[in-house]
Amino acid sequence: MNKISVIVPCFNEEEALPVYYREMIRVMRKMPEVEFELLFVDDGSTDRTLEILRNLHETDARCRYLSFSRNFGKEAALYAGLQNAQGDYVATMDVDLQDPPGLLPEMYRILKEEPYDSVATRRSTRTGEPKVRSFLSESFYKLINCISKTEIVSGARDYRLMKRKMVDAVLGMSEYNRFSKGIFEWVGFRTKWLEFQNVGRCAGETKWSVKKLFFYSLEGITGFSVAPLSLASVIGIIFCVLAFLMVMAIIVRTLIWGDPVSGWPSLACIIFFVSGIQLFCTGIVGQYLSKTYLETKHRPIFILKDSSEEKRETHEKVSV
Ligand code: UDP
Ligand code: MG
Repeated sequence: MNKISVIVPCFNEEEALPVYYREMIRVMRKMPEVEFELLFVDDGSTDRTLEILRNLHETDARCRYLSFSRNFGKEAALYAGLQNAQGDYVATMDVDLQDPPGLLPEMYRILKEEPYDSVATRRSTRTGEPKVRSFLSESFYKLINCISKTEIVSGARDYRLMKRKMVDAVLGMSEYNRFSKGIFEWVGFRTKWLEFQNVGRCAGETKWSVKKLFFYSLEGITGFSVAPLSLASVIGIIFCVLAFLMVMAIIVRTLIWGDPVSGWPSLACIIFFVSGIQLFCTGIVGQYLSKTYLETKHRPIFILKDSSEEKRETHEKVSV
């Protein structure tokens, strides 16, 4: 019998969790031929999420949980889940039902019958999302696909089902600065894309502010492209050529018309402009440097505080 592990990152999801579990029960009933494991990762929630997860584990042995010592972010939660999943097939899914669990039977069928190693999903529409956010997302995908060799599919969700060999490949990428959408593409394998209409959250609120998304997109760009690093050199060359032409023009003008003292406001503007560009380029180098700095520290991606495994072990010890 095949086993599917479903990894579900949760950060302050006390409202969405019960709704999600009910929906998953319905889906699991539809797939009696598979064994399931629901691996919830509590990403340092401050509400009743962990308590609900403990209860779920006690009432349903298929539910396991890992709990972080603080909020490490969704990427860390996904990584922890992948490390601890035991299934032959592994799915990653949000808890807010924005990734419809109802697609799982179809995804599993595709992996069983067709020559694919993973089935990924993307939303075909962005209805219900604020216009500014959609615009920023679209621009990000355009930019990153222009400067990165790894293709990042626009509207891709982190909802996918993978075979074990792909999961092991993803686990081989143990980098600290994680950007899953890029990592899943980078490891290769054959992926089939399914599309679905965007759905709103079933309960609770989004955990991603525009600021958080901005820094996440920087993670994607610095993680999968080094093109911005060449920007400084390209701009430098352009400015050298411009400066040379301007010097020539000034020499010619002085020879013909003499040298009246004028033009300091434009000079000030040019100085401001050029120093702005220099700082911008230094900033880009700083971004890469900071990522390298964090990477070389080899800090753990997450720290566990509690898990269903520990609970089982202590329980067994007590009963012995
Ligand atoms: N999430 C998480 N850690 C975080 C932020 C979010 O584990 O720091 C989880 C969250 O509980 C949810 C999923 O990641 O299951 C997606 O989050 P959300 O729905 O807030 O993002 P959106 O769908 O708005 O992009
Ligand atoms: Mg969501």
